[in-house]
Amino acid sequence: MKKFRFNPFNLALKKDKTVCSVCSYTEGYNGCHLEHDNTCDVCHMLGKNKNILMDFDFLQKQFLEKVEQLKKNSTPYHCIVGVSGGKDSLYVLNSLVKNYGLHPLAVSYDNDFMTQKAKDNREAALRILGVDLFNVSVDINCVNLLRRVSILNNDEFCKPCVNLVHSCILKAGSIFDIPIGFTGFSRAQLFTRTQDIKTFLELIQNFQNPTDKFIENTARILTGKQSFMTLLSSAKEKKLVEQTLYSPKRFFRKTCMIVPYYIFHNVSSNEIINCVKRELEWMPPDVFEKLNHSDCAMERAAEWIFPKTRRAPNGEHKKYRELASEVRLGNYTLEEAAKIVNKWNKIEKPEKDIKLLLKQLDLEEDEVSWR
Ligand SMILES: [Zn+2]
Repeated sequence: MKKFRFNPFNLALKKDKTVCSVCSYTEGYNGCHLEHDNTCDVCHMLGKNKNILMDFDFLQKQFLEKVEQLKKNSTPYHCIVGVSGGKDSLYVLNSLVKNYGLHPLAVSYDNDFMTQKAKDNREAALRILGVDLFNVSVDINCVNLLRRVSILNNDEFCKPCVNLVHSCILKAGSIFDIPIGFTGFSRAQLFTRTQDIKTFLELIQNFQNPTDKFIENTARILTGKQSFMTLLSSAKEKKLVEQTLYSPKRFFRKTCMIVPYYIFHNVSSNEIINCVKRELEWMPPDVFEKLNHSDCAMERAAEWIFPKTRRAPNGEHKKYRELASEVRLGNYTLEEAAKIVNKWNKIEKPEKDIKLLLKQLDLEEDEVSWR
């Protein structure tokens, strides 16, 4: 396996015309286009809508209004919070309880790869905050089937999990009759394509009085159900996945609005880490670096899977998209990002983890495209 030294941030620093001068996206990457002045359409879109997306006084006021609305409901839980055991979602849980006085239901999804430390962190937070947990235990064969489909289709390894987190929130919303579910996805994870920025602008506009149609449309996008169903070729597999993971009868019977908390709040990653350590006894993962999502035991192996659908230059690191997004949002400079990618490029391929992943998904090494 050749070592790759691709570092688009270095190209941006050298003012290379093949990358966006602001965030370093290359033409076609993740569906982006470079425009005349050497910046990409995602940076343009963000710049054009800064007055809404970055006006945190306005956004927080909107959020507070919604909270008052939720408190008037007589249901046992005001809202759902999707928690993984990672710092971002536990921070959201903590803030909704302590800063907003809400009574949330925590929803988790057991993906079979959650580390013990993440589970311990989740338990500690629930105990300290006195929050109930609805843990969705899914048929892992189905989840692995979706992961296989995702990889064989040259798509992203994490996609099924991200989609299923949302499905589980919708399920809990339907079962417990809760109108809203918050997630802990960061702004950098959310603002990576123009389409996503558009979706979240619409969310802000519809936040106070969403129509059923709006809620359902957003749910369909976030759960990715449609795309998986079309990818599953055999009727038997389709049925299996639909029945065990998406439960169509219950799924859209009464669905809730999914809202990423960080769309409405500006919190730095240092603030998040300090807060969860101080207030929730949160323990960092064994290997703790910024932008790591190490509550998943398969993360290191997954970093080497190369999703061709993103149309990235081969060698692009899995977390590059998020890092470029951090730069676009002004949280990192190009220089800092270039250094991080240099470090990523020196990491050896984790053969042991990869063998485990291949075994679990019943895949051969040559069926997967590697970076
Ligand atoms: Zn850009």
